[in-house]
Amino acid sequence: MTNGRMSYISSLLLNKCPRCRKGDLFKNQNPYVLKKVFDMHDHCPVCGQKTELEIGFWYGTGYVSYVIAVLFSLFNLAWYWLIFGISWRDDSVYHWLITNGILLALIMPGLIRWSRTLYLSFFVSYEPARVN
Ligand SMILES: [Zn+2]
Repeated sequence: MTNGRMSYISSLLLNKCPRCRKGDLFKNQNPYVLKKVFDMHDHCPVCGQKTELEIGFWYGTGYVSYVIAVLFSLFNLAWYWLIFGISWRDDSVYHWLITNGILLALIMPGLIRWSRTLYLSFFVSYEPARVN
């Protein structure tokens, strides 16, 4: 993995602006302050990149969060299967469903933000030189 790709992933995880990878997209860093989970800067505080590129831009993130939720569930299925085993003959599949549901609920605020950051990064490319 190249350095550039690493910093792309860490900027996603930290919800940084995709253009400068320095500015924060969200006003409050803690996604678990649920009232403020959608509270974003209109423009990146570091490079001035607009965050909501057009009216209704964030509607597209519904698909992104859906895909992340599915991937996350598959990941949970894999480790749960390896550690506890899953069988249709007992309740284990329900235990997994409950575990997965709880884990999804726990990461949901972060997931909502990551899907916005990821979605924005599809449209805005990294331009470190244009930071002003
Ligand atoms: Zn920026």
